[in-house]
Amino acid sequence: KNALANELRSPIICVLGHVDTGKTKILDHIRKSNVQTGEAGGITQQIGATFVPIQTVKDRTECLNQKGKLELNVPGLLIIDTPGHESFSNLRSRGSSLCDLSILVIDLMHGLEPQTIESIKLLKKGKTPFVVALNKIDRLYGWVAHDNLNFTATMKKQTENVKIEFKDRCNQILGQLAEQGLNACLYHENKDIRKTVSVVPTSAHTGEGIPDLMMLVVQLTQRMMAERLAFVDILQCTVLEVKVLLGLGTTIDVILSQGKLREGDQIVVSGLDGPITSQLQHDPTYAVILAFDVKVDKDAQDMCKEMGVTLFTADIIYHLFDNFTAHLAAIKA
Ligand code: GDP
Ligand code: MG
Repeated sequence: KNALANELRSPIICVLGHVDTGKTKILDHIRKSNVQTGEAGGITQQIGATFVPIQTVKDRTECLNQKGKLELNVPGLLIIDTPGHESFSNLRSRGSSLCDLSILVIDLMHGLEPQTIESIKLLKKGKTPFVVALNKIDRLYGWVAHDNLNFTATMKKQTENVKIEFKDRCNQILGQLAEQGLNACLYHENKDIRKTVSVVPTSAHTGEGIPDLMMLVVQLTQRMMAERLAFVDILQCTVLEVKVLLGLGTTIDVILSQGKLREGDQIVVSGLDGPITSQLQHDPTYAVILAFDVKVDKDAQDMCKEMGVTLFTADIIYHLFDNFTAHLAAIKA
């Protein structure tokens, strides 16, 4: 095998779980942003994709990887956030169907909730491997925070009462998972990652356990799906959703899961009155916005550049837009 043959693409990770379990907050912690507080009512309304470069993963997992035991071979992680509200089950199912691995977030204080169970069903149906983030450990009574420390280290520093309460709650949730037909255990006790779901206790507020979560995700993808992640230069894109963005008009969010898009490439989308074509203006990153609007202005272009996404423009007429969503859905089906 030569070096090129070993090149891996970034795994696509989808974050699923009941509303308010901390999905967006965990992502914020990983990318050091603050999306959650900026959301209207703190509610994720749509799928959002974030690329986490491997250097960030290395930095954040340093406390676990001091001897460089684990080689990190993927270029990064492409993480997709999903809304937990009942009414968004179509977005959740789309997100989970396109990902390589999923993080199922469960609130340690609440246990399994309706959309947790729905998510488990989606994951089983798609045979998607996943890990559980048992979030909000900082809410255990008497918890003393040690920011960004790995789980076993921070747990050692807690009082006996905290340890007991954690164990009780954790065991209860492991029991609930067993009722859903899932074998699960704490990740550092997991002897067979193919048969048993790993559970990582986390706090998206203090960052405790987040290094463990990131490390586990990388380990799992590298160990279990090297073949699936092998980079091949055959283009594969999935439409996540169609939406109207201020200043951009109707846009299509697509995830580039395989291959490379290059400046100058021609993009064709099938429209009601024939093909809609567009040319790539610069090399894109992982997340791509396709804008089909004649009114794209300079500000919008700058905004996309800042966001690190590529903007495609297309000369098409406005009346197409009315039926655009339905039509794209039809293309996908
Ligand atoms: P989502 O609906 O799953 O995306 O949940 P959010 O990320 O919007 O978080 C819901 C609420 O839980 C917010 O008020 C967060 O500040 C809070 N939250 C999230 N993670 C944690 C955590 O680890 N500890 C505590 N104490 N609160 C959290
Ligand atoms: Mg959210």
